[in-house]
Amino acid sequence: MAQVLRSVAAFRAACDQARVRGLGFVPTMGALHEGHLALVTEAKRHAPIVAASIFVNPTQFGPNEDFARYPRDLEADLAKLDAVGADLLFAPDVAEMYPAGEQTRVNVPLVAAPLCGRFRPGHFEGVATVVTKLLAIVGPCTAVFGRKDYQQLAVIRRLVIDLRLPTTVIGVPTVRDLDGLAKSSRNLYLSPVQRARALAIPRSLAQAQAAFASGERNAATLARVARVQVEAAADDVDYVEVVDADSLSPLMDNKIDDRALIAIACHVGQTRLIDNVVLGEDAPVIVG
Ligand code: AMP
Repeated sequence: MAQVLRSVAAFRAACDQARVRGLGFVPTMGALHEGHLALVTEAKRHAPIVAASIFVNPTQFGPNEDFARYPRDLEADLAKLDAVGADLLFAPDVAEMYPAGEQTRVNVPLVAAPLCGRFRPGHFEGVATVVTKLLAIVGPCTAVFGRKDYQQLAVIRRLVIDLRLPTTVIGVPTVRDLDGLAKSSRNLYLSPVQRARALAIPRSLAQAQAAFASGERNAATLARVARVQVEAAADDVDYVEVVDADSLSPLMDNKIDDRALIAIACHVGQTRLIDNVVLGEDAPVIVG
């Protein structure tokens, strides 16, 4: 059974003990699915002891976003974490992570600016702040994140380098349902009809991958191919963009050399969904 800790002091003490043997860490917001569990399994490959956290972080949600209704089910999550061999679970409340009088924030301005940064002001500041706090509490040798949140991973890689944190960051490929939809806690919000419409996202990524495989190297053309499908199915499209996979900036002359990120954010009903692949790097998306 994973040991559940609610206070920073108790969790830090448990991490201090574990660290000498090798400690891996997987931060999450709960409502765990196979994507999260793949991160725990990956962490286990790198460290004998793995800690996970479940914390729905208020500072990364905008005022009109889903903080209050975000799915929470600690007991089910704990059973899932036990099944994949997590050793410690940190499940603090908001006051524990944001003590009275708190005011400190972490910003990674350039990496956070494009893509989701344009549509979710303050989101990556909230992410960078909470991840910095968690890494400072845990001090893990290895921390594991999903490539599904590709820009988040880029923000975290940058802050770990910049703040000289003693942690190796690992990114895990996106885990998908059999029909291709990226697993997400927010998929729980989708009705069956909406879920079927959401399949346009992986389909459009697969189509872009196919075009790339046949030699298309123009970023704007590839983005257009994907956008047509997404626009037909989604209620609102935040972006469909092909950008440099490292800097997340536009590509010079729209020309892709060996690899590029295609990233999508759109709304199906009230639910905001994101997905991406790195063309020239990620395995083909299989769509049902
Ligand atoms: P969340 O609970 O949504 O904050 O996600 C916690 C971690 O799980 C983040 O590092 C996510 O990138 C990762 N994650 C979420 N969904 C997936 C997925 N389908 N495949 C791989 N990793 C994922």
